[in-house]
This record gives sequence, C-alpha cells and structure tokens, in this order.
Amino acid sequence: MAIVAVALEVPISRLFDYSADEPLATGQRVSVPFGRRQLVGVVVGHPARSDVPAGQLRPITAALADMPPLPAEWLSFTEFASEYYQQPRGELMMTALPPRLKRATPLRRKPVLAEASGQAWSFVCDRTPTPAQAGAIETMGAALDRNATFLLFGVTGSGKTEVYLHLIARVLEQGRQALVLVPEIHLTPQLQRHFAERFPGARVAVLHSSRAAVERVEGWIGAQSGSAQIVLGTRLAVFTPFARLGLVIVDEEHDASFKQQDGSRYSARDLAVYRAHAAGIPVVLGSATPALETWSNALKGRYNLVTLAERAVPGATMPRIEVVDMRKDAIEHGLTGRLLAAIDTRLARGEQALVFLNRRGYAPVLACGACGWVASCVRCSAHTAVHLKEQRLRCHHCGYESVIPRNCPDCGNVDLHPFGRGTERIEAALAARFPHARLARVDSDSMRRKGEWERTHAEIRDGAINLIVGTQMLAKGHDFPGLTLVGVVNADAALFATDYRAPERLFAQLLQVAGRAGRARLAGEVLVQTRYPEHPLYRAVIAGDFAGFAGSELEERKRAGFSPAVAEALLRAEASSRSAALGFLREAAAHAPDANGRVTLYDPVPMTLSRLAGWERAHLLVQARARGVLQRFLAEWRSRLEAQRTPRGVRWHFDVDPIEF
Ligand SMILES: [Zn+2]
Ligand SMILES: [Zn+2]
Repeated sequence: MAIVAVALEVPISRLFDYSADEPLATGQRVSVPFGRRQLVGVVVGHPARSDVPAGQLRPITAALADMPPLPAEWLSFTEFASEYYQQPRGELMMTALPPRLKRATPLRRKPVLAEASGQAWSFVCDRTPTPAQAGAIETMGAALDRNATFLLFGVTGSGKTEVYLHLIARVLEQGRQALVLVPEIHLTPQLQRHFAERFPGARVAVLHSSRAAVERVEGWIGAQSGSAQIVLGTRLAVFTPFARLGLVIVDEEHDASFKQQDGSRYSARDLAVYRAHAAGIPVVLGSATPALETWSNALKGRYNLVTLAERAVPGATMPRIEVVDMRKDAIEHGLTGRLLAAIDTRLARGEQALVFLNRRGYAPVLACGACGWVASCVRCSAHTAVHLKEQRLRCHHCGYESVIPRNCPDCGNVDLHPFGRGTERIEAALAARFPHARLARVDSDSMRRKGEWERTHAEIRDGAINLIVGTQMLAKGHDFPGLTLVGVVNADAALFATDYRAPERLFAQLLQVAGRAGRARLAGEVLVQTRYPEHPLYRAVIAGDFAGFAGSELEERKRAGFSPAVAEALLRAEASSRSAALGFLREAAAHAPDANGRVTLYDPVPMTLSRLAGWERAHLLVQARARGVLQRFLAEWRSRLEAQRTPRGVRWHFDVDPIEF
C-alpha cells in the first residue's frame, strides 16, 4: 500500500492523504471520496507517513488512466501560481483543468502516448517583412534558446502579428511548441485563420471558455503530448501543459481581461512571464499601449524593448486625431455637427465610419422627472440600463433583469425618461440621420448568437456594412481596410474616475480604437468629442505620444505611492451586511503579522461598487516597497486567517496585483 497526497478543489490550503494499492505517478488524476462526495483530484506527493491515523486513511476510488499524468513542469507552475496569488493549491489547479477532466467518468478515448513531433508542416511567407519587422524578428529570434522577456512596442498597424508568425516558424522548426495568448475570444478566429494559412499542416489547438468541452480536452491533451504545435487561447490557456514549449506570446498584453477577477485571481500575462522564465524560453509581450507595469520594467532594463514605430503597409500613415469641442459645436442626439458631416463625407466616398462608445444598451439610466426615482438593481449598488428593443431594464454588473415600468413605482408619473446614451440609442440616431447607410451595431448584446460576430466581421471587411456603432469589442486588433473615420463619443466619463488606472485605460482605449482607422492606403481620421479639449490626456493622444504620457503617469504614481512604484495586494471580504464585511477586515488587520514597518495596511473601505449580486463588498489595501517582503507577509497572514474561524456568512480572499478597486 502507498500513501498519496492529493490536491482537491476545496477552499483550504492543504492536501489530503489517501491510500492506493499500487504506486501512482505524480500528476495522476484520481477519483477520491471526500466526505459524502466523490471528487477528482491530482496526486502531488508521496508522503512516507500520514497524520491521518492508520486505519482511517481512505483508499482512492480510482486512478483515471484516460490520459498521461500531468507533467512535472505543470505541477510546479501551478504551485508557484497558487503561492504567488495566495490561492489554495487544489482550487487553483482545478480551475486550470478543463471542466471535463474534473469528472470521474473517464474520457472515452484510448490512452495517449507521447506522440512524435514529426508532423509535416511548412511556413508560407507570402509577404516580405518590412526592415523594422525584420529587425525585430532578428533581435528576438536570436534569443530563442534562453529566457528573455521582450516588450514588442509597436504602433497600431505596425504588423506585430507578422513578427509573431516568423518567430513561431522558427520555434516550430526546432520541433518545439508555441503558446499565443489573446485578450478576447473574438480575436481567436482571425489568428486561427492566419495560422492555418501560414502554417499548413500544423495542428493548432484553440482554448477558451466558450469552446465545447470535448474540443478543450482534445486541445489540452494535444498540447501535453506534443501533437499540437500551436496553442491559441485566452487567459486560461496559460495553464496548458506542454511537451516542448519553446515560445510564449501575449498579444495586447496591457488588456485588463488577462486578469481573472473572480475565483482564482491571477494575471495570465504575469504568469506567462514567470512560466517562460522557469522554462528557460523567451516571452514576447506585444502592445501599442503597454501596461505601465510593463513599460516601467522595460525602462529599467528588466524587459528588452523592441520597437516598431511605423505602420507596415507602404504609404499607410498614422490616423490624424482631433478633438471636437462639444461646447462650441451643434449637438444632435449626442453627436456633434462636425462628426455627422465627417460621416456623410465617408459614406459619399464609399468608405466606412465607426462611432465608438463604450456603453451598451439604449440609456444607462431611467428616471422619473417628477419625484427623482431612478431605476436601480435590487442586488447591486448600481442603476439598471434601459434596453429598449427588448423592453427590459438590465443590470450590467450582475445580469438582473426586469420589464420597463409603464409608470413611476413611487409617484405613478407616466413620464419616465431615459438619461444618457448607449450604443442602441446612438444606433437609432444614426439610422434616422443616415437612412441609406448599411448600419450595424457591434456589442455583446447584438453579437450574442453564435457565429454572429464572424458574419458581421466579414460583412464589415467586404464593405457590405459601411456604418458601425460599437463598443470595445471593435477596438482591439481588428483590421478593416475601408474604415477611414472613427468618432469617439462620451470619452470624458473616464477622465474623472476615482480609480488611479482610469487614465491609463482611457489612453489605451483611445489609441486602440484610433488604430482601426486608415490601416490600408486610405488616410484615417479620428474625432474625439469632448468638453475638455485642453486636457493633457487628450493632448498626448493627439500627439500619439505614449512614452510622454506613460512618463508623466509613472511620475504621478510614484508621488502618490501606487503600483508599479510599490507592490500591492487587497484583502477582500464579502458579507450580507457592510458592517460584517468591514468588521471582518478590522479583525483580520488586528491579527496581521508584524512586518517591522516594511508593509503598510490601510483602513478597510467599501469597494467602489459596494454591493454586487446581493453581497456587500469591502477591502483593505496592503502595500510594500519590495515584492518579496509583501509575498512573505501575505503567506503568513493567510495561514493565520485560515487557522481562525471565519464568521458565518463572510467570505474572503486575497487579490494580489489588483487592477480593480
Ligand atoms: Zn416618480
Ligand atoms: Zn445587479
């Protein structure tokens, strides 16, 4: 009989011992009894003896031999992630596994043996890299045999994808695999097409949460066995096991969606950097607007900066960005005369125009003019948005829905008004103003049906649609050659947000969406409607001056004592009442380890969105100058908190390197 230590999906930082008749490999999935349930876990150790008294040690139910054990590199990688992010190891590990592998019924497939890498593929190089691209390929291609972190800082349209493809080709030539992470599911089909066209014969595994369970498992096993040469996916793909990983690419590395915000909280971008380091391979972080943390690492020389300063298509210039002063221009349904005239011109010339607005629905607020009643979510501290086409009020935070009331529930007034504008309302205004335009709305409401986005994307590309209103879904990574005008509506809202990351996000978003204009030989124009045309952020956007903007933001963060000048973590608590959440945090602070003044704990405060889906939320910010100091402090604090009894109805977790406050 052997004793095995098993990691299970439970919210406690410990392993569980079981007995097994035969020796089991580390990384082996097993089905075990846990209380009255059966759980699937992973064998992570072979203790010589157990604290569980002999005779009480329960035997495993079954060893799941439907796939080879998870590799050692994967086990140590997930262990690092759980320690760094202060998450229970079993919980993090199980989050990383495709859901199908967490079920005790074995996969109906033959056990996969390590497959040979001799699959036939070729690299189709049908266009010549520009001198700038060739330089970038040479610089990074020379480092394929060792660990290095590259920041590929390339303006929009500079052809970062072409650089990725050449690097991947070299890695595949060596018989190794490449991992490519993108922020959004919507970006995978186009990259998948690129890979299929440029690497005929290569097997590409696509991994994201909307993928069918079977496909996810097949992709996962293909990567682990080495038969899939390229893995393309969203943040969860960072946890894919590989046989011979040779290169990691994180495209649009600044994007907030690389950070998992619930359950096991981790940054796929930062984990990619760690994983490449541990594996001794290079990692490429690509962006036109790098995260300030990344930029700061490049300035300090920790990351290698590789720049693409020009657009790749000959003759394509950067779009001209201008602000339109809303105080001086006539406004029709939230759209300035200047923007409407510019759209007119584009449509007359047979070109395309995009109106960008990061707010879906018809209007963000429904209110009563008589008594001041405002429609709010019953579960969150937030207003519900008006969705006129569906005749619904909807909470954009928790999904709560209700019908639009005919009259005010407080005073009976029938004259309820929608305030503010969302994409649906702008769409209606554009349809009335440009009745002959072929108009489409692109947001997560209109693109909900499977295949809808692929179809609309194709219609925009081939010109069947010539006027688009859309959210950030359109801002990232898409290439529409006929699009020559971008109008930005309602950007000002982000100028005065309390979150210190708001300016960074707004700058990135404006440059990204501006980057959609004029990518081919047609000149692009971007009009940003604002009431604050002199604001320094807009000045920097107009000048396309990322380095200048980042420099002043980093100075500001240093003065104010925010990331990346300091390392940060939050202890978050959720409870049915605000006082219970705050009370737990005060109590937790009283039990925090002594760090000799090298760690600062701030007072607990309610979160900006203090109530979400019925939970009152509060947090406590922790800062330290040195990351190592913070890590040791958090580990000790977590073990103290886990040793104590958490009050009933309170749940808590750490958020390391938080991006949401
Ligand atoms: Zn009323
Ligand atoms: Zn809600």
